[in-house]
Amino acid sequence: MEENKETQEKSLAEERREALLYRQKNGYDLLPKEEEGPMQAYCEAYKKFLDAGKTERECADYAVALAQARGFRPYTRGQALNAGDKVYLANRGKAVILAVIGSQGLDQGLNICAAHIDSPRLDLKPNPLYEDSEMAFLKTHYYGGLRKYQWVTIPLELRGVVSLKNGELVRVAIGGDPGDPQFTVDDLLPHLGGDQAKKTLAEGITGEQLNLLVGSRPFPDDKGSDRVKLAVLDLLNRKYGIVEEDFISAELSAVPAFRAADIGLDRSLIGAYGHDDRVCAYAALAALLELGTPQRTAVCVLADKEEIGSMGVTGMQSHAFDHFIADLCESKQVPLQACFENSFCLSADVTAAYDPNFPEVYEKRNSARVNYGVGLCKYTGSRGKGGASDAAAEVVGYARRILDKAGVIWQMAELGKVDQGGGGTVALYMANRNIDTLDAGVPVLSMHSPFEPVYKLGSYMTYKACRAVYESEE
Ligand code: MN
Ligand code: MN
Repeated sequence: MEENKETQEKSLAEERREALLYRQKNGYDLLPKEEEGPMQAYCEAYKKFLDAGKTERECADYAVALAQARGFRPYTRGQALNAGDKVYLANRGKAVILAVIGSQGLDQGLNICAAHIDSPRLDLKPNPLYEDSEMAFLKTHYYGGLRKYQWVTIPLELRGVVSLKNGELVRVAIGGDPGDPQFTVDDLLPHLGGDQAKKTLAEGITGEQLNLLVGSRPFPDDKGSDRVKLAVLDLLNRKYGIVEEDFISAELSAVPAFRAADIGLDRSLIGAYGHDDRVCAYAALAALLELGTPQRTAVCVLADKEEIGSMGVTGMQSHAFDHFIADLCESKQVPLQACFENSFCLSADVTAAYDPNFPEVYEKRNSARVNYGVGLCKYTGSRGKGGASDAAAEVVGYARRILDKAGVIWQMAELGKVDQGGGGTVALYMANRNIDTLDAGVPVLSMHSPFEPVYKLGSYMTYKACRAVYESEE
């Protein structure tokens, strides 16, 4: 049978259109059928990671456990290293660097994926517990850039550690297990909220109003004051052995009590707390755990403190990273600078997905779109790219090549309109080390909110992108 001629022969315009124009497709029109199963399985494992890790410490522990199960061993300075060896460094329980030693020398550089495992939350102040009007509260100091009005009237958990005077470290986790009590920050009722409603969103709820409700039942004793506070301390003491002074040396955080859940009738998205940046951290980790012996040494960095500037011993500005790589290099008599200058880093962090409910802040032609794959960002920053490391054309070109070769669905992403706002990642700290670095990650909706949606296809493609980086032989 003869085919319709029109479908056989392309017009010159069609031919030129195909050859010249950059046309993006929805990822679901590109996703090979055989990738559907692995994508769903990947997302189920990621949801478990989310529920297990709601603080950087929990994420670090979970990552180390997964790595140990895959044959990774803690690195000790000076140990002999051979191709295929899998080592990790847990930095103070809050950040992890993992490496798979490649067949090439370290002078050929590293293939790095760097993500962060801290997320915005409400940290307890050093002297948090008080009673007012026979109710007990914990004072908080928010961590990271959060919109305060989003953190009231939602269920919260308490997670973290308390360092007792005797040196013992007590882990606290209340609210995550079925049947656990939970916590909340209260807000005004609309009936009395008229004055508050006239304030701006930024002023409607203030930092000092983010007080966690933790009790209301007095200690059974009709004498003395602060009986509710006493009752709360008594419960904490019975369960964890802590006294009020121990709050001083504690890191306790109120985090959303939501569990990760599929979003949408088609289950195409995942709603959860902390996708920023655990969605990239898990991608970087899962891809590394599956490596055999790569040509170049592959390194996964799970950093802390990104949300407050990457400072401190566990942040990406810490020399912990340099020292770890220097140790590896020293055992092979390779200068660290030679290793860094030949390295590539994918700074894996989330970006904003275009939200049709708020079109005014986006520039549609350059925004990341839901289901269009992992988003690459040449630059971040604000007000004229301020603070951005701005990857070179050659670096973006390299990423395009290796992602296409690996069948990764990707798109370019810019965070909103020019001069609308901005943000940063760990990219500049890696680039400052003389490492070619490109930002890439999953575009999310409602970033930094207690319940962020991401799309499954982007999560899976970020994992595939990390794998392509680790396995690149270019
Ligand atoms: Mn982030
Ligand atoms: Mn963030």
